[in-house]
Amino acid sequence: MKVLRICHLYGNLMNTYGDNGNLLMLQYYGQQAGLTVQTTLVSIGDEFNAEDFDLVFFGGGQDYEQKIVSQDIQRLQPEIKKFIENDGVFLAICGGFQLLGQYYINAAGDRLQGLGILPHYTERQINSRFIGDIEIFDEENQQTYLGFENHNGVTFLGDCLKPLGKVISGHGNNNQDKTEGVHYKNTFGSYFHGPLLVRNEWLAHHLISLATQQI
Ligand code: GLN
Repeated sequence: MKVLRICHLYGNLMNTYGDNGNLLMLQYYGQQAGLTVQTTLVSIGDEFNAEDFDLVFFGGGQDYEQKIVSQDIQRLQPEIKKFIENDGVFLAICGGFQLLGQYYINAAGDRLQGLGILPHYTERQINSRFIGDIEIFDEENQQTYLGFENHNGVTFLGDCLKPLGKVISGHGNNNQDKTEGVHYKNTFGSYFHGPLLVRNEWLAHHLISLATQQI
């Protein structure tokens, strides 16, 4: 029987608003697809080897936890970059999505270093957050996704990155350019809680299908 090896990256620190439901969906659909699913928590002080995993899930976090993670995760940068560039399936939500980029300025004004794997960067809002229901449309896959967003960060993708979808209603990455999330190779970033994969089953199946092709 084929084994689907999932890494839950900093899952004990980055897990806001039910983000861990994404992991439950991946485990459930992985089993439905006839795979044996193994989940490993990789957190403070642990090693991460790109070859050890088929799928990585990195959830969102409050600023306090996100700062701790942004410092520890720098050790893992070369292997995480290798995983992403080698078409590993990677799902990053909110704070996790922010940390894949260049930097995140948190609500207190501290500059948290990102992994710098993708070119996006995240600034802050003063005394404000983007909170509420959100709907986006993924033109590439002709899919509508529904979710709930709650973030201070204002993310800009730059010219060369594709979003996960176009904002139909809600704020998205920055409330300016109608982008939400990011899609690069088999890496998907999003501000969606809800959790994302529980409310958008097509995407859950899609991630499992992409990961299965790598096994
Ligand atoms: N701390 C980040 C922000 O407020 C991420 C929040 C989250 O992961 N929900 O933008």
